[in-house]
Amino acid sequence: MRIAIIGAGFAGLAAAYRLRQAGFSNFCLFERSSKPGGTWRDNTYPGCQCDVPSHLYSLSFFLKPDWSQLYAPQAEIQEYLESFIAHSQLDENIEFNSFVRAAEFLEDSRQWRLTIERLGDDGPQVQLFDSVICATGPLNRPVIPALPGLDTLRGQYFHSSAWPQSLDLKGKKVALVGTGASAIQIGPGIAETVEKLFILQRTPAWIMPRQSHPYGAFWQKLFAAFPMLMRLHRYFLYWQQEVRAVGFLGLGPLSEMAQLLARQMALWHLNRAGLSRELRASQIPDYKLGCKRILLSDDWYKTLRRANVELIPQAVVGCSEQGVLLADGVLKEVDTIVFATGFAATDYFAPLTVKGLAGIDQKTAFAQSAANYLGICKKDFPDFYMMVGPGTGLGHNSIIFMMECQLHFILQALQYKKKVSGSEKKALRVSEKAQSRYYEAIRRRMKNTVFESGCKSWYQSKDGFVDILYSGFTFEYWLATRRFKAQDFIFD
Ligand SMILES: Cc1cc2nc3c(=O)[nH]c(=O)nc-3n(C[C@H](O)[C@H](O)[C@H](O)COP(=O)(O)OP(=O)(O)OC[C@H]3O[C@@H](n4cnc5c(N)ncnc54)[C@H](O)[C@@H]3O)c2cc1C
Repeated sequence: MRIAIIGAGFAGLAAAYRLRQAGFSNFCLFERSSKPGGTWRDNTYPGCQCDVPSHLYSLSFFLKPDWSQLYAPQAEIQEYLESFIAHSQLDENIEFNSFVRAAEFLEDSRQWRLTIERLGDDGPQVQLFDSVICATGPLNRPVIPALPGLDTLRGQYFHSSAWPQSLDLKGKKVALVGTGASAIQIGPGIAETVEKLFILQRTPAWIMPRQSHPYGAFWQKLFAAFPMLMRLHRYFLYWQQEVRAVGFLGLGPLSEMAQLLARQMALWHLNRAGLSRELRASQIPDYKLGCKRILLSDDWYKTLRRANVELIPQAVVGCSEQGVLLADGVLKEVDTIVFATGFAATDYFAPLTVKGLAGIDQKTAFAQSAANYLGICKKDFPDFYMMVGPGTGLGHNSIIFMMECQLHFILQALQYKKKVSGSEKKALRVSEKAQSRYYEAIRRRMKNTVFESGCKSWYQSKDGFVDILYSGFTFEYWLATRRFKAQDFIFD
């Protein structure tokens, strides 16, 4: 059986490792960039770091005893992924600079035809595979708002995920657009260097204390000497994160209580920051805590207090040669605009085009309905497995845990196919009934969660539904992915 993996981020690399471990040696991993790492390769902005504890935000089969601190910085995570490749000798299976432009299911041969554009090749190349694992990532399609006049700006502008390598912001006037998860790290990361920082905020975020701490040499040595202790620490961190879902999931008075406690904690964090009355008011969201991603920071409010920082609670409406135009008509002169404006999270797989049965493409299929099975399979797309697909994102715990659950399931599906197919050309696809049953159940639960409690967030698709997050506890997802249910699939 020949298998293609698309994408060499956390998900694709973990898939490659687990495939090989399970005895599937005939696979190829395509990565469009010249390096692995995905998110952690691309996001090199000052202050970039994880917001899930690193002992948990790491692969269970490649633990790292010497994480430098509770929330590791970007460079350390990138290094971790590179050392994972070296340790697992995955290099030979990865084809870098190989952009998969299209994947098309061939009904006659029951195979997937991948069109691959390789750097340096004359034209695209076509390869056939029996199964595809799509690990193209949820957050790597940057969004820069189409502002009138942006092209006339004399200075430079860029997205937070495309930070220019040799950028020197000393003495510069900078506009930081957005106050989401990236902006809240960039602001403190550049405030000391720049001459002036304008932070343009459309909506404030609920912010919790970060309380990161270094792991000293003592703990690092102890974890290396006693891996069991490191695993215990990891379990502790898992449950510490998991319990937070109680406040999100609409579990009646229990959730109300958790919400109230968390809100009080966030307000306490804000109140002790010493902001002026006006600034403090600008930092209180008007939506329920958790509806948009909760952010962690110990230095955001400190940054707002700096003399060279001005928070502007307004949207940018346009640009001129000199800078940014605000909603009230005021022009702020700047040399640089940093767009920390997020990603097109719900454009699943784009710009890759995926065509399934009867030539239906994934864009049309998802526009018709976001229905899916475990966020891994979608009807009409046989032998095509998604990682970090729709309905598997999290607002409270480590996505790596979800990836490993997905891999556990995918491996069982592949093993099942191998066992029953013999020499026949057949493909495995989820049945409409099983897909509807699963999707209706998770949608029913989603309606009661805080994620659909009335705010506008990047979690939502155009119709306002939150289809990218999981609406339960992660241990429920673990349970759901434990056993491959052949009766939910059609093999033809
Ligand atoms: C700044 C930032 C911080 C984050 N911090 C956290 C955090 O603290 N905690 C957390 O849980 N999550 C965080 N996330 C979410 C993060 O994206 C996931 O945690 C995780 O890294 C996703 O891994 P992935 O392998 O699914 O996707 P990615 O890391 O995006 O990797 C996908 C890979 O696929 C490649 N690719 C895509 N399309 C193609 C194609 N057509 N052909 C070939 N290759 C292709 C890409 O180049 C990329 O290398 C963060 C995201 C961002 C942007």
